[in-house]
Amino acid sequence: LIFCGRFSSVSAPNLPPFDYEPKPYKGPLADEILRKRKEFLGPSLFYYYQKPLNIVEGKMQYLFDENGRRYLDAFAGIVTVSCGHCHPDILNAVLEQSKLLQHATTIYLHHAIADYAEALASKMPGNLKVVYFVNSGTEANELAMLMARLYSCNLSMIALRNAYHGGSAGTIGLTALNTWKYSIPQGEIHHVVNPDPYRGVFGSDSIRYAKDVQDHIDFGTSGKVAGFIAETVQGVGGAVELAPGYLKLVYDIVRKAGGVCIADEVQSGFGRTGSHYWGFETQGVVPDIVTMAKGIGNGLPLGAVVTTPEIAQVLAQKVQFNTFGGNPVCSSGGLAVLKVLDKEKRQAHCADVGSHLIARLRALQQKHEIIGDVRGRGLMVGVEFVTDRQEKTPAKAETAVLFEKMRDLGILVGKGGLHGNVFRLKPPMCFTKDDADFLVDALDYAISGM
Ligand code: PLP
Repeated sequence: LIFCGRFSSVSAPNLPPFDYEPKPYKGPLADEILRKRKEFLGPSLFYYYQKPLNIVEGKMQYLFDENGRRYLDAFAGIVTVSCGHCHPDILNAVLEQSKLLQHATTIYLHHAIADYAEALASKMPGNLKVVYFVNSGTEANELAMLMARLYSCNLSMIALRNAYHGGSAGTIGLTALNTWKYSIPQGEIHHVVNPDPYRGVFGSDSIRYAKDVQDHIDFGTSGKVAGFIAETVQGVGGAVELAPGYLKLVYDIVRKAGGVCIADEVQSGFGRTGSHYWGFETQGVVPDIVTMAKGIGNGLPLGAVVTTPEIAQVLAQKVQFNTFGGNPVCSSGGLAVLKVLDKEKRQAHCADVGSHLIARLRALQQKHEIIGDVRGRGLMVGVEFVTDRQEKTPAKAETAVLFEKMRDLGILVGKGGLHGNVFRLKPPMCFTKDDADFLVDALDYAISGM
């Protein structure tokens, strides 16, 4: 054990046993990689940890560094490795397709993209059955915004504060966290008050939050809008679950103003919330456009936009084309992901393990004042640290210390929220109750030693 805090009443936990031997690593070490990154990969690229970690191998919910040290991965490559690192079924699907054909483009026929689109559409409610494949969440949201604007013949988009929808010139306007925003024209985007039950000005009162949307439409637009976009559980913003009933109210308001409703399921989709396959279902709504990426491909560069035939018609005026979107390799991998999630009953597993994790974290909150809030659904969980529970003062520096300590204890978590004071716990969906216990014991130990 590397980390030794000052006297603590709890002992340092051990990683749960895992029967896997990483291969000996003979590649370049962290310092050499870091030098090249600094020289060739641009100043804005960031990396976690004071001493950056060189991860060289992964197996299911575990990662291995250059020394063969094992870490529990509680962040899944930013909520992306849904089924588990190097899951054999997905690996096999990708390898088999790669041997036959890696790329020809969608101007020719290929069964993989058609089979995959059909399978993905079968997971959607309502009339959401037209699929566009892209390569990332940002591209998916760009396309969704284009569709909304063309369909409504309007430019005004509404998005939530604390949202992250991408970093391209278009989607950066939708994103509402100053950490990610450059000063460029935002293009007719209205950011409404965030329906955040913990920090939001109206608590869990969805009616008052929805009124703010109506006010933005009444006072800030012509009265008509292009659309509304929201994540149901905000990811980068710190696992913030929207106040109950909010989306139902807002979808009505937006549709009355001529807009379409977009659900950004880049993080919350594919059963991660446990109770439902899609995050929007937790609010009892059916969107007009759904965007997805990250967990869709278990790490393959893949994203998708799913919409109704009626909305899809607006793109028929011109050619809508994406060179790599839906290439045979990613389509085969994506199809394998859908099958694994069903075969291994991962949604139910997320519900079971997630409620265990949340219950244990809530018990820990009783013990440690620094834990201001524990929230989330399934395996999409946030722990917010504060220095003062009454004032909810973000424990920024303390969170940074805990983050490093967790790594020393052998567990990698995500960090988020505007102040960086939230642990984001979104592991591969094969994460077990033993893993959850280890995570909570490690956090207990780390806080106790501060
Ligand atoms: N939407 C959400 C909710 C996200 O969390 C992200 C990325 O973190 C994106 C969109 C952008 O996805 P990508 O990084 O694949 O472009």
